Amino acid sequence: MAQPSLPSQFRALVVREDGPSRSVRLEDLSPADLPEGDVTVAVRYSSLNYKDGLAVTGKGKVLRKVPMVPGIDLAGTVLESASPAFRPGDEVLVTGWGIGEASFGGYAGLARVKSAWALPLPKGLTARRAMAVGTAGLTAALCVDALDAAGVKPGGREVIVTGAAGGVGSVAVALLARAGFQVAASTGRVEEHAFLEKLGAKRIVPRAELSKPPGKPLEAETWAGGVDAVGGAVLGTVLRQTAYGGAVAACGLAGGTDLPVTVLPFILRGVRLLGVDSVMAPRERRERAWARIARDLPPDLLDALTTEIPLADVPAWSEKILAGQVRGRAVVAVR
Ligand code: NDP
Repeated sequence: MAQPSLPSQFRALVVREDGPSRSVRLEDLSPADLPEGDVTVAVRYSSLNYKDGLAVTGKGKVLRKVPMVPGIDLAGTVLESASPAFRPGDEVLVTGWGIGEASFGGYAGLARVKSAWALPLPKGLTARRAMAVGTAGLTAALCVDALDAAGVKPGGREVIVTGAAGGVGSVAVALLARAGFQVAASTGRVEEHAFLEKLGAKRIVPRAELSKPPGKPLEAETWAGGVDAVGGAVLGTVLRQTAYGGAVAACGLAGGTDLPVTVLPFILRGVRLLGVDSVMAPRERRERAWARIARDLPPDLLDALTTEIPLADVPAWSEKILAGQVRGRAVVAVR
């Protein structure tokens, strides 16, 4: 079957900065505008993550050069490949590795990447569903893998997920519930309680209970472990409440970058703080996480936590995600 050739032009969301003036606009680019790379992909879907919100609004210094096509995730079809690993027509996804930050990302009809960054679309996932998972969902799965490797197993005390109604949090709730954990979901949004219960949460913990200023250095042992997308006071409270020998996977900063906690949870209870990064995570760790996602995240549940938006709506939704107003995951229809 003949493979489609490169288009002479494609739509892209482009961030430009000229001194204090900053613009984010849909533009027509040509393949010559793309960075170097050995695989060229016709992008069908991207997604919106918290970091994309920072990049598009300029509220966080995440872009390492401009002009930039943001979008830290992409999925689509290979059009050209100089790598033996991929052939035209292959369906691939790329998350992290600096796309949308240091190298053009997924908010464009065409992307050129290094073949080492691309993964074949996991079996059982469409491009749309892979982007509904995206970096946030991959990070949730990396956190669950980290808890598992630290010996946090179902059958004991509850595990807690913070920022539960957001992207990382909602996928973490679903994956942990599916793995057999009793999941407590912490959220600041009362209106999302039913949504979180549908994902498998057994108990809702109001965010205010966790974001209080630190009091005693240790609190009642409550959690076997946790997945934290929030940081700040919330992570401090979770650590003070984690039971002897427990572990907390920390991946986010939606509530702040500081960590108001003493060493006592670590040295008196043997609590472990597991740092999780998805951007530079090695390939075999990603493959394990994607396999967990394909196995444990039912497509109907994934669809229930997904909202599809067009590329043109990314700037408005970037403001929304930074304001903590996006429920679950937003997938971006690029073409
Ligand atoms: P979302 O905005 O979808 O989710 C973040 C959630 O955090 C919100 O939905 C909200 O949950 C909660 N929240 C927001 N603001 C505050 C606040 N001020 N105080 C307390 N809680 C708050 O973002 P993502 O899921 O895309 O990302 C979540 C975090 O994880 C981000 O900080 C992001 O940078 C980080 N991240 C890190 C990765 C890594 O590789 N380490 C990869 C992906 C994400 P609710 O309404 O339920 O309270």
